[in-house]
Amino acid sequence: MALPRARIVTLNAALGPLDYRVPDGMAVEPGSVVVAPLGPRQMLGVAWEAERLPSEEVGDNRLRPLAGLLDVPPIAAPLRRLCEWTADYYLAPLASVLRMVLPSSAALDGPRQLTEYRPTGAVPPRLTPQRERALERLAGRQGTIRELADIAEVSDAVLRGLVNAGALEAVQVDADRPLPVPDPDFAPPALNSDQVDAAASLAGGIADGFDPVLLDGVTGSGKTEVYFEAIAAALRAGRQALVLLPEIALTEPFLKRFEARFGCPPVAWHSGLRSSERRRAWRGIASGEAQVVVGARSALFLPYPALGLIVVDEAHEPSFKQEDGVQYHARDTAVMRAMFEDIPVILSSATPAIESKQMVELGRYREVVLPSRFAGAELPEIRAVDMTQDMPPRGRWLAPSLVAEIEANLAAGEQSLLFLNRRGFAPLTLCRHCGHRFQCPNCTAWMVEHRLMHRLACHHCGHVMPPPKACPECGEEDSLVACGPGVERIADEVAELFPDARTAIVTSDTIWSPARAAQFVEEMEAGAIDIVVGTQLVTKGYHFPNLTLVGVVDADLGLQGGDLRAAERSFQQISQVAGRAGRGDKPGRVLVQSHDPEAPVIAALVRGDVAGFYSAETEARRDAAMPPFGRLAAIVVSSEDQGEAEGTARRIGNAAPKVEDMAVFGPAPAPLAMLRGRHRQRILVHAARALDVQDVIRDWLGGVEWGPKVRVSVDVDPYSF
Ligand code: ADP
Ligand code: ZN
Repeated sequence: MALPRARIVTLNAALGPLDYRVPDGMAVEPGSVVVAPLGPRQMLGVAWEAERLPSEEVGDNRLRPLAGLLDVPPIAAPLRRLCEWTADYYLAPLASVLRMVLPSSAALDGPRQLTEYRPTGAVPPRLTPQRERALERLAGRQGTIRELADIAEVSDAVLRGLVNAGALEAVQVDADRPLPVPDPDFAPPALNSDQVDAAASLAGGIADGFDPVLLDGVTGSGKTEVYFEAIAAALRAGRQALVLLPEIALTEPFLKRFEARFGCPPVAWHSGLRSSERRRAWRGIASGEAQVVVGARSALFLPYPALGLIVVDEAHEPSFKQEDGVQYHARDTAVMRAMFEDIPVILSSATPAIESKQMVELGRYREVVLPSRFAGAELPEIRAVDMTQDMPPRGRWLAPSLVAEIEANLAAGEQSLLFLNRRGFAPLTLCRHCGHRFQCPNCTAWMVEHRLMHRLACHHCGHVMPPPKACPECGEEDSLVACGPGVERIADEVAELFPDARTAIVTSDTIWSPARAAQFVEEMEAGAIDIVVGTQLVTKGYHFPNLTLVGVVDADLGLQGGDLRAAERSFQQISQVAGRAGRGDKPGRVLVQSHDPEAPVIAALVRGDVAGFYSAETEARRDAAMPPFGRLAAIVVSSEDQGEAEGTARRIGNAAPKVEDMAVFGPAPAPLAMLRGRHRQRILVHAARALDVQDVIRDWLGGVEWGPKVRVSVDVDPYSF
């Protein structure tokens, strides 16, 4: 007699696959989502193999029976292969990868009917500051009491009070109501001839199997309109399409554009979804009902049964690299998924990564180019401002020539954007009397002053403290000074220079939700903002026709530190922010403030020499055998105990195998030597492209033991180091 059994990968990262007996009548197949008993608990898992074996091979009835089979479609073979590839390549437990496929059990078997709440607009008779803040944060939102409490950062009780006062009302939600169906022929745009060619080239690849394409078009060339045509082709072929975006704040304008083109919004997937939306999206994706999905990197691991196209928009963005848990790069993993699914993948960018350009060079990716801006708009003129000559007055950061340009722009009724990639008011606070600097107690980092929120904050662990009146070191009062500028300080400077201008600060502190992003876009489009001061959040995706001046406050900032990607990253960031200028019929101009305007990155930007920059940067990488010509991996050892972190790192370092074409550096303190209270040591591995460095590291770490409080993580292809 044959006993059915199944090998299950559970969501428990500490365990490998386990064998279970399949009870009679339970139809388990490869990919089935099951409930498996694990000790006294029950855990979700996926059947990796399900087979019938003769009972003697199973060994009587020692196998525990599975506890249940979920009523969701099985995880298909291409996605199971992607999970295996991701676990192998990024040296992560398969279970941790699987958690991204099955992100929450609520989505799988949570309630279908939910009670959610939303603001009524009524103001409660007793308006405490807490209630007022909650209502401000909840404008336009809906969710369960728990979810709204998280958004508003108040207790459940405050919200219950608001319900009783009539300021919030209950809504019954059916989490499984049907999803809207996008229409590929709803409103196709009239494409210009470059776009027609590009679109035909992209759409032609649908249904022809694996086809990686770099869509390389200058800012404002209409890349979105072009890849929309590929999405339309996928829809016509009855396939699903996935668009990965780097930033959640960007989804709102994207959703609007999508709706204008296809008649309804796509299905969104990101960490900010409430649980009813999460359930609806996951189930719609798994059943194939969700035809177009737009999401952050985690959307890549969802179980699309009929995926026909993946688009990675702004594919050069570093935020596609996940920095904790499974440290995967969503751009590279998207290409792997497309390969396993045997479908096209489009990487869209005005400033592609050196890695992507190199793949084109090698003939592994096709390149589709959009050489000019849509509707005859010109790329902006970029000028360097030499801060050693054109100096701002003491305590100010905007050079006189930039100030004059802003003034001219205000007079012309046009909008300006000042870019500084630093949140808060000042990056460093010190005591004028004794020199004490405010450092985070948990990290090797300064506490950053945020005046808008009246506190000092660590940008690495989130530790906050109220701004102290006196120096904790010497007790001197009113002796604290802010050093250097953040966006808030630049906004203050603007307010002093141009008291009548309407200014907006755009950072993750002010744009914390898609709704806030939408509000910002509306105000910009309505002309209600004259000057925007923002971080990298404003460099992406936005299209404001009346924005004609961009000022880069500190172009040297990104070049400090000597990181491998510093030059590339600065080039991309400044090109992207410059690309916000002059997108309509008025020409744009860009002023780049630098103390070293002759630096290659800035000189290339001023000359508009994109090709020159790429070839110089590529050659430098080739000479140093750095990615994409060589490979890097970082082994990070951390512990709350410094001695333990150092000791373990030393033992791992001493156990390093001698392998040809591989060099090991360190251990040494990691760039953030202390992070969230953990001391961090790093070993850097530099290897030839052809070496299977993962295999070497697996063997190497397998031969070393460490205590339970030590964490050892491997970052394969680290973005920064
Ligand atoms: P990119 O992503 O390449 O920077 P976008 O896709 O944002 O460029 O396009 C820039 C602007 O031009 C957008 O406002 C877009 O709606 C508009 N646009 C591009 N192509 C067309 C077209 N064929 N018809 C109408 N508007 C277009
Ligand atoms: Zn910290």
